[in-house]
Amino acid sequence: MPELPEVETISQQLARKIKGKKIKKIEVRLKKVIQARSFNFFKNQVEGAKIKKVWRRAKMIIIDLNNNYSLVGHLKLTGQLFFVKELKPENLKKYTHLIYHFSDKSCLIYNDLRQFGYVKIIKTADLDKFFQEKKLGPEPLDKNFTLEKFKTLLKQKPRSRIKILLMDQSFLAGIGNIYAQEICWGAKVQPQRRINTLIDKEIKLIYTCLIKILKQAIKDKGTTAADEHYQDTAGKKGKYVFKLKVYQKQGEKCSRCKKGMIQRINLGGRGTSYCPICQK
Ligand SMILES: [Zn+2]
Repeated sequence: MPELPEVETISQQLARKIKGKKIKKIEVRLKKVIQARSFNFFKNQVEGAKIKKVWRRAKMIIIDLNNNYSLVGHLKLTGQLFFVKELKPENLKKYTHLIYHFSDKSCLIYNDLRQFGYVKIIKTADLDKFFQEKKLGPEPLDKNFTLEKFKTLLKQKPRSRIKILLMDQSFLAGIGNIYAQEICWGAKVQPQRRINTLIDKEIKLIYTCLIKILKQAIKDKGTTAADEHYQDTAGKKGKYVFKLKVYQKQGEKCSRCKKGMIQRINLGGRGTSYCPICQK
């Protein structure tokens, strides 16, 4: 599933590519991807509106329109957003569900093989309330997310296991199964460690790795791991996949200590890999 770096990549690219464009027409091939009070309501608000701003909150892409409404999209497992200057037949897939046609002939295409993703329309003024109802934790790359803040949040969850907590969207927004494992490896802590067993030095290292890994992954335009559908808005795969240390590396030798064999365990229902030697 696309996590913070992937969704941030898409949002940044879209901000550059579609800001200021006018949506002339929408073409809907599968109505269920649209979550609105009615399909016509969605169509009426979106057609004719201009794109004011594109940004990200947690794993959602927010497109503010110039009519006081915003589109909130979630890619879930297999959603893709592609931008094309001109629509060609080869751009369309069996699982293309929605196409935004802009007035200059460029298009934004929404594909979703498994159909878990969605786009909602919400009044821009109601976005804060919407995020509050979702009980989203802070943004890890926000300047207010300091080491002190991280420590305060951790203190409230002493019995939680670090990797599961990092993935908890109400604790911290945007981190999922790939980056939570990579952060634990980076910080040399085993993913199943309980918060109340972590010493100060380890907490500091988890915090540093978290910021460093997310920032680097954004630079590399995210991760497209084996059997994942994530691509950026130009259809390119995420290059952070070449920097992964533990995710999908089970059975391989650890690249840091050269001694441990990466092990895969089940933690909170999710496959989790780590090095049993250099992660303590
Ligand atoms: Zn190791």
